[in-house]
Amino acid sequence: MKVSKLCFLIAIPAEAKPLIEHFGLIHHPNLFGALPPIAYKGVYKNIELMVVVNGKDQQLGVDLVGTQPATLAAHLAIEHFNPDLIINAGTAGAFARNGSQIGNVYLSHKYIVFHDRRIPIPGWDAYGVGRYPTFNTSVLAARLGFKQGVVTSGNSLDMPEVDERTINEIGGEIKDMEAAAMAWVASLYEKPFFCIKSITDLMDSEKTTQEEFLENLHMASISLKDACFKVVEHLSNSDI
Ligand code: SAH
Repeated sequence: MKVSKLCFLIAIPAEAKPLIEHFGLIHHPNLFGALPPIAYKGVYKNIELMVVVNGKDQQLGVDLVGTQPATLAAHLAIEHFNPDLIINAGTAGAFARNGSQIGNVYLSHKYIVFHDRRIPIPGWDAYGVGRYPTFNTSVLAARLGFKQGVVTSGNSLDMPEVDERTINEIGGEIKDMEAAAMAWVASLYEKPFFCIKSITDLMDSEKTTQEEFLENLHMASISLKDACFKVVEHLSNSDI
């Protein structure tokens, strides 16, 4: 597949800023009317780039993390830009027991799931988990030296026991708050989609997730930018 229009969906500005600056992307205010998602556009070599960030809560002023804003951003980005490929770039948690380290970069693998949609009724149980497709990233991961993992999404930063049990059952390795929602929208439009996730926190470490997340957000966003640049550079030279 030759990619000439590439869209990055990124939940929060702290994650997106290094990438936007690196590619010199231009902010396009009001592209989505009064809706929260924020668009940036530019060109790198032969590739048109768009970055869409979820935006801010109108009442509280905080960044709109989580699955509903992610769904809206993905929908608006695809309708407006009609990309050949969508990448959800962001930060995530992982497990030290799987050999993950803070700052590691993972590409999504096998499928993308939800770990907090518990509906114990036949049919709906599988709907709850989702198992949305990811583009096969094996060649890319091997060529560019990234790890791969099953990305699992939910609407909480913490991980109560019930979520941990589900994550273990479905083989989740990389925990975030947006990917599965974005993957669902991409699947509706039959658009190739995968995730690039930079690890801010280890869920099985001593520290609380929020402490580790805030401590490592800047560093992980720089390694996220480096990883995204490698992928864009690769796409500018070869098919995937
Ligand atoms: N106060 C923070 C809140 C960020 S929530 C802020 O607005 O700056 C965490 C964000 O990082 C989400 O977008 C989520 O996708 C990702 N994330 C990083 N580590 C995570 C983890 N362990 N579990 C779930 N999401 C995580």
